[in-house]
Amino acid sequence: MENVLGLRCLHCGKEYPAKAGIFTCEVCGQKAGILDVEYDYGKIKRSTSRESLARVKDPSIFRYLPFLPIRPETPRPHLRVGGSPLYRPPGLGRALGLGKLYVKDDGQNPTASLKDRASVIAVIKAVEEKATTVACSSTGNAASSLAGSAAAMGIPSYIFVPARAPQGKIAQLLVFGAHVISVQGNYEDTFRLSSQAIERWGWYNRNAAVNPYLVEGKKTVALEIAEQLNWQVPDWVVLSVGDGCTIAGVWKGFRDLYNVGWIDRLPKLAGIQSTGCSPLADAFLENRPWQPAEENTLADSIAVGVPRNPDKALRAVRESGGTMAAVSDGEILAAMRLLGATAGVFGEPAGVTGVAGLKRLSAAGVIKEEDTVVAIVTGNGLKDVKNAIAAVGEPLKVEPSLEALIPKLAKEGWR
Ligand SMILES: *Cc1c(COP(=O)(O)O)cnc(C)c1O
Ligand SMILES: [Zn+2]
Repeated sequence: MENVLGLRCLHCGKEYPAKAGIFTCEVCGQKAGILDVEYDYGKIKRSTSRESLARVKDPSIFRYLPFLPIRPETPRPHLRVGGSPLYRPPGLGRALGLGKLYVKDDGQNPTASLKDRASVIAVIKAVEEKATTVACSSTGNAASSLAGSAAAMGIPSYIFVPARAPQGKIAQLLVFGAHVISVQGNYEDTFRLSSQAIERWGWYNRNAAVNPYLVEGKKTVALEIAEQLNWQVPDWVVLSVGDGCTIAGVWKGFRDLYNVGWIDRLPKLAGIQSTGCSPLADAFLENRPWQPAEENTLADSIAVGVPRNPDKALRAVRESGGTMAAVSDGEILAAMRLLGATAGVFGEPAGVTGVAGLKRLSAAGVIKEEDTVVAIVTGNGLKDVKNAIAAVGEPLKVEPSLEALIPKLAKEGWR
């Protein structure tokens, strides 16, 4: 927090102090997702270096404290957020025609998605701002991560989820002791009701994009990737896009590092959506303003017809010189099988959408064999077992005897 200068509006440039309750720009109206946390990069440079960071033992996101908008002394949840592995799975690289492919498995966070990076910051900010209750609406993972971090801190949470949220995520919420409100409507309905309730009862708001500090948590995935690659910046970072906060966060992270001179260039970003719900990819590819879309995809975490952070997301992709793409649900399920079978990494549908897009962009020659590529797997597959089974089918059923097994295996061509 000591390195934070304030908040700045993306559109009109107006600056605000980083104080409790300031979430949106008063000039630009209630529009969400346009305030950006600004840092004193000179100060960060004077107090921290890549070498001093290398000596920090904490593997979690708090190793990047100088880049975070929180006070060092504020109590934090004990959960280990971040520090997820960066793999280089050769089989997946071969399957995709890529020589230098890395997979950042962010399903290995405490509640099994990248959203933990944002939610832990939300809970810390809530404590700093003396809020006693936190709340959000979410397609599922923001909810389960907020509920988890809140539980770790002993803070009550109120969570609004759309009716279609998968069982695994609902189970997480209930296990974490959240007050769970399943809204019989879509994500847009859910978001609206949560906003009204938050205002009515004065809860701390963790809604995506409204709260400018969440992107700061999400950016830590980029800080980690850079550090894990020994500050060699990849050519491409590929990930799925729903509200657009995650990709905006990735961009912020790399820009922070560039601004303190720890990296000497920036990666291109590829943002991937599902064809069943691709308002941002369509806007990008057709070079026009985005329009609300239907939410027709099994990748529930990115089924966002009205994105909450469209401006920051599109700006991130454009500034990076990257691209966007939309892939079908069939391609998403195929990517789930491919990632699982060639890399041993199990992602939920939205978690593997980046890999599906990577396959497409590699085949189209946009991403080249010699490029260094990082695909971020944003959520774990156990959250949504129903769709996983849809992707891979049922197991071979057999009576408990070798006589029964032999012909079955022969029939499958397994033996
Ligand atoms: C939230 C989420 C995304 C997309 O992030 P946005 O900030 O909404 O663009 C992708 N994958 C998973 C697993 C998520 O939970
Ligand atoms: Zn403004």
